[in-house]
Amino acid sequence: MLTDCHIYEVDKYDVGNGPGIRTTVWVAGCSHQCKGCHNPQTWKWNQGKPLTVELIDKILKACEDPKCSGLSLSGGDPLFIKNRTGITELCKTFRTKFGSTKTIWMWTGYLYEEVKDLPVMQYVDVLIDGKFMLDQKDISLPYSGSRNQKVIYLHADI
Ligand code: SF4
Repeated sequence: MLTDCHIYEVDKYDVGNGPGIRTTVWVAGCSHQCKGCHNPQTWKWNQGKPLTVELIDKILKACEDPKCSGLSLSGGDPLFIKNRTGITELCKTFRTKFGSTKTIWMWTGYLYEEVKDLPVMQYVDVLIDGKFMLDQKDISLPYSGSRNQKVIYLHADI
C-alpha cells in the first residue's frame, strides 16, 4: 500500500475527462467540499481500494491499449494530502513506462499556485485547477465545470 492513498474507481475507457479515450482514475478523498460537487460520494478518503504496486500495474496495463491516449486523475482530489505520495508514484511509474507518448491530465480543487512546486507536477501534462463554484457553473466548458477553473498546459509540446 502506498501510504494512505485510496482509489474509488477506475474507468478503463472514458471519453468524458480529457481528449480521446482515456483511463480515468477516481481518487478517494477531498477536503474542499464545493457546493454542488458532482461527486460527493468520493469525499471520504478511506474507501475503495488502497493504491498498491499491484493496482498501479493494473492501471498502467489498461493504459497500454493503443486506443488509450493517457491517464486522467480526478476524484475526489488526487492532491488531497493523503493521496499525494501515492499519486506521485503512479504518475512517475506512468511516465517511466510511456515517456511522452501518452498524457496525464489531473483535476484538483487546489489552485495551481498552491501546488505548482509539488514533485508530482513534473509528470502532469495538463492541470485543471480550483474548486467548483456553483455560481460560475458553465456546462459548455469542455474540461471544467465552472468558469473560475483554469485548464493549464504545463508542457508546451502538448
Ligand atoms: S474539488 Fe472536486 S471532488 Fe472535491 S468537492 Fe470540489 S468538485 Fe467535489
